[in-house]
Amino acid sequence: MATMQAMVLDAPRTPLVMRERPVPALGPGEILVAVAACGVCRTDLHVVDGELEHPKLPIVPGHEIVGRVAALGYGVSGFSIGERVGVPWLGATCGTCPYCCSGAENLCDTPVFTGYTRDGGYATHTIADARFCFALGEAGDDAEVAPWLCAGLIGWRSYCMAGEGRTLGLYGFGAAAHILAQVAVWQGRRVFAFTRKGDTAAQDFARSLGAVWAAGSDDLPPEPLDAAIIFAPVGALVPAALKAVRKGGRVVCGGIHMSDIPSFPYSLLWEERHVLSVANLTRTDAHEFLEIAPKAGVHCEVKRYPLSHANEALSDLREGRLQGAAVLVP
Ligand SMILES: [Zn+2]
Ligand SMILES: [Zn+2]
Repeated sequence: MATMQAMVLDAPRTPLVMRERPVPALGPGEILVAVAACGVCRTDLHVVDGELEHPKLPIVPGHEIVGRVAALGYGVSGFSIGERVGVPWLGATCGTCPYCCSGAENLCDTPVFTGYTRDGGYATHTIADARFCFALGEAGDDAEVAPWLCAGLIGWRSYCMAGEGRTLGLYGFGAAAHILAQVAVWQGRRVFAFTRKGDTAAQDFARSLGAVWAAGSDDLPPEPLDAAIIFAPVGALVPAALKAVRKGGRVVCGGIHMSDIPSFPYSLLWEERHVLSVANLTRTDAHEFLEIAPKAGVHCEVKRYPLSHANEALSDLREGRLQGAAVLVP
C-alpha cells in the first residue's frame, strides 16, 4: 500500500505529530495531489489553538497548497496527471443552499474547509475535490506561490470589499497585507501600513513594498483614508481603523478570527462609515486573483520550513517572528 507522511493534530493545544499513513482512496470527482509546498496561515493557528470550534480530529492542517496532480478520481475533467494545481481553504460546498445559488458560495450552509473539516496540506499528499482546485501554470516557485492560496485569495476578497478608494490602510502587515500592498501599489493606490507598536522591521518591510507611510496601529495616518483592511486578529483595531477612515469610509475585517471588539463611541461609526467582514472565498475570487497577481508582479517573501518543523513554523507565526509568510516544504 502506498503511504504518505503527514503532520497531524490529534487535539487542540497539542503539538502536531508526524505520522506515516496510507494514501487515502480517491472518491469520485477527487484528485490526489503530491504536495510541493503548503503555506502556514493564521487560521491554522486558530485551529491548532482551539479557537475554531469542531475541527475534524485528528486533522492535517494546511490550506495554501501547491502541488502536482498524482491521480485522478472517477469523473474528473479539466486536470491532467503532473499538472501544477492549487488547493484553497474552500474545499467544497453543497451547491444547493440559498447562498450557493446566489453567488455567495463562501457563505454555504454546509461547506467543507481544507485543513479544518477535511485533511489539508501539512503532508506529502492530500486529496481534494477537483471542482475547488485551480490550475496554477508553471510560473513562479512553488513555495512563493503557496501563500496566494489563502493570504492572496481571501486578501483579494477583502481588498475588493474595501472599494475603489485611492488611499488604503492595512492593519497587520503579515502574509495577506504584503501581497495586497503589492497589488494596490501596482494599481496606483497609496498604501498606509499599520503594524504592532514599535515593530520597525515590519514597518521597513512595508515601505520596501511601496507603502507611503508605516507606523504603529495606535497612530493616526497623516490624512484620512478611503478604506482600511484589518488582517490582524485583534478586535481593538476596529475602532482604531474607524478613526483613521474618512466620512463614508470602509473598514473591512479581512477573513480572520478576531478577538472581541471593545465598545466605542458611536461618533466613530457616524457619517456613514462602514464595518464589513469577509468570510472564506468564492471560486470567482480565486480566478480573479490568480489572473491579476502575475500581472501585478506579486512576489511573496517566504520562510521555508521542512514539513517536520511545522510546529516551529506555527510558533514563529504566533510570536510574530517572521516577515511575509511561512511555508512548509515536504
Ligand atoms: Zn451551499
Ligand atoms: Zn488561510
